[in-house]
Amino acid sequence: IEERFDAIVIGAGMAGNAAAYTMASRGLKVLQLERGEYPGSKNVQGAIMYASMLEKIIPDFREDAPLERHLVEQRFWVMDDRSHTGMHYRSDDFNEDKPNRYTIVRAQFDKWFSRKCREVGVTLLCETTVTELIRNDAGKVLGVKTDRRGGAVFADVVVLAEGVNGLLGPRAGLRASPKPETVALAVKEMHFLPAETIESRFAIKGDEGVVIEMVGTFSKGMTGLGFLYTNKESISVGLGCLVSDFAETRESPYAMLEAFKAHPSIAPLLAGSECKEYAAHLIPEGGFKEIPQLYGDGWVVVGDAAHFNNAVHREGSNLAMTSGRLAGEAIHRIKAARDPLTKDTLKLYKQLLDESFLMKDLKKYKDLPGLLHTNSKNFFLSYPQLMSQAAQSYLRVDGTPKIDKEKKTLRSFIDKRSRLGLISDAVKLAMAWR
Ligand code: FAD
Repeated sequence: IEERFDAIVIGAGMAGNAAAYTMASRGLKVLQLERGEYPGSKNVQGAIMYASMLEKIIPDFREDAPLERHLVEQRFWVMDDRSHTGMHYRSDDFNEDKPNRYTIVRAQFDKWFSRKCREVGVTLLCETTVTELIRNDAGKVLGVKTDRRGGAVFADVVVLAEGVNGLLGPRAGLRASPKPETVALAVKEMHFLPAETIESRFAIKGDEGVVIEMVGTFSKGMTGLGFLYTNKESISVGLGCLVSDFAETRESPYAMLEAFKAHPSIAPLLAGSECKEYAAHLIPEGGFKEIPQLYGDGWVVVGDAAHFNNAVHREGSNLAMTSGRLAGEAIHRIKAARDPLTKDTLKLYKQLLDESFLMKDLKKYKDLPGLLHTNSKNFFLSYPQLMSQAAQSYLRVDGTPKIDKEKKTLRSFIDKRSRLGLISDAVKLAMAWR
């Protein structure tokens, strides 16, 4: 390749596609490089896709995007080994003309998103790994080297959309590699069932869908989350815990997922299904405090590579799409003004991010990842156990006076955590949630 481009985008995931589409649809000459066989072949998500962030990029996406089900019900379960205490929210309001959240399968969705990018003029090369950033003596990024023969290519700006475990940014010293205590390892399986079976099991019809997200003893005291999402003819089920916790406990993610699927609250939902896919991937979980330098001379970083993930609300793809779009808009505006793409001008990208929900949300929860990590045994093991015991005691009618039951429940919380511990946990959680 000897052509010069306005922009090179590394990666064809949510962030890379959003950036590439935004720039090419505004007339910029964009080259996108993806190491996978096809866009999406390397990418893993639960997956919920948030419509309003995609609408800002492709307003009529519902016409042909591969969407599985739109979500009408969200369940949150706190689990011990044999039970769950749940909160459900279901509303017919979610059956709107333009639903707000959909389940998707990334392998299909990324292919579609990438086709849209090519339709607006993006040049995409798959099976092409970027091996190095080309920089001048002053450190300005001028282009990239790839694993293709003679594969150096130049552009005014390089958009690093290489995902959470991208090596290029850390190797070039643009950001640090994520730390084990700030990334989760998630494992996920796809279980296939006829659409009618899924619909009757979850009391849904047509393309309605349900999401269940869980915390509890299945994560064995590690900071972790479980999930179950309904697709058209499959159910995605999985869990993730911090890498540092896995390293410390030596638990096997695969064995944990097997136990999770066998839980009496989950097994009936998967009964009779055929598992056809297994995937593992990292999720950035450190939040606001782990966001690296986001721009420099001739480069910006977007999506998971920039640690944009809201672990509290399980949002990642929407932050990836938003950061990709805002980077693309900033680059287009700078080029339209005929200014060079330097650290000084590219700070516009950060300004746009700061004005958006993305930075505001991550800032709001800046202390929560640290709190959950340092108190994981309480939040993910003791409290779920205590909560289940309390719920069972409350519901079991056995002639024990209610007042005795209440006293016993309160005593079990105090014995486990002490009065001071309970107050301190509640205050810390409230402070971190503010
Ligand atoms: P990615 O999608 O990881 O894309 C990076 C791309 O860069 C890949 O295609 C990769 O092949 C390519 N690449 C990397 N290095 C190079 C290189 N050197 N040269 C060329 N190409 C390269 N988010 C949600 O919003 N909702 C969910 O329900 C949800 N569930 C999740 C469940 C799981 C199990 C996991 C793991 C994540 C989940 N997420 C969810 C998070 C979401 O998947 C990510 O936030 C999102 O994929 C980030 O997009 P991205 O484009 O930044 O990175």
